[in-house]
Amino acid sequence: MNGHLLVILEQRDGVIKKSSFEACSLGAQLAAGSNIEITALVIGDNVSNIAQAGEYGISRIIHVKHAGLHLYSSSAYKKIILEHAASLRANLVLLSNTAFGKDLAPRIAVKLETGILMDCIELSLSENGFKAVRPVFAGKALQEIESRNGKAVATIRPNIFPLVKNQVTVAVEEVTPENPDFTSKTLEMKRSEGKTDVAEADIIVSGGRGLKGPEHFHLVEELAEALGGAVGASRAVVDAGWRSHQEQVGQTGKTVSPSLYIACGISGAIQHLAGMSSSKYIVAVNKDKDAPIFSVADYGITGDVFEILPVLTEEIKRLRS
Ligand code: FAD
Repeated sequence: MNGHLLVILEQRDGVIKKSSFEACSLGAQLAAGSNIEITALVIGDNVSNIAQAGEYGISRIIHVKHAGLHLYSSSAYKKIILEHAASLRANLVLLSNTAFGKDLAPRIAVKLETGILMDCIELSLSENGFKAVRPVFAGKALQEIESRNGKAVATIRPNIFPLVKNQVTVAVEEVTPENPDFTSKTLEMKRSEGKTDVAEADIIVSGGRGLKGPEHFHLVEELAEALGGAVGASRAVVDAGWRSHQEQVGQTGKTVSPSLYIACGISGAIQHLAGMSSSKYIVAVNKDKDAPIFSVADYGITGDVFEILPVLTEEIKRLRS
């Protein structure tokens, strides 16, 4: 297949996210061995780690630079991406399936009149375009989808596609947009103090109703801290007001795919599994040996969180010291 693949890099506070480099790696692999050219596009003001894309096989990067684009603007970003997709004649626009990618991808696809492949866990070239696999029905099934008109906009689920080192020389072209469309504009972005966002963490320790009350969540927090991970929660404890909604994992919370997910006192309802079953390693601690969470767990401990968590935390601290 001939064509051009445009990878959209997402920056936050001037730093490109790891999930964008996963898109670079995938893009470089799709381009290798075909006649597809690849370009990455980053929109922002000062972006510190642009050259890092070269580690993942991207040799050409367009940096659209403007002080007003430091924070996300769906209208301005969309317009810029569409302009570059048109001038490059891109037949695949690739983003990460973060809140940023989920907001932009449909806006771009509708204007480019392409198919849209959202939340892909597999993506490849096909005879007629691009084909993908994505989880559907809260993770109960996998759907194969194909964009058959030779072009597509695709988002890939973070932490699924590996970062493949493939160092190339990078050329960065800086471009100043003429009239950014600030019809919609983010005025301020606030990060929760000192906490790692559960959607971006590589290790997550989540707690559920088995913790019995918010006053016991320090057990989950301590284990997360010992592992250098983030704290997650089931909806039951969020609804009960024990934890904030930002930590909720699942169908109506965040979709996560960390390297390690430890579920503590969580039953494993289908709506919870929808948000975490693609994690690389799942560990469950539950006193009910028949809890559904064990059906997706790689390692399971049938036991009481009040006994197991302090022991796990101490042992991890000892091993890491
Ligand atoms: P429970 O189901 O009450 O399970 C508690 C578990 O703790 C049990 O398995 C029990 O054996 C174990 N336990 C108890 N005491 C101990 C102990 N001392 N030591 C070890 N284990 C112990 N849920 C989500 O999580 N995320 C979502 O996004 C979500 N979205 C939803 C959307 C819809 C439309 C609906 C209908 C539901 C949704 N839910 C979601 C709710 C979901 O169905 C479950 O009700 C919820 O996940 C249960 O949370 P839990 O596992 O903490 O609690």
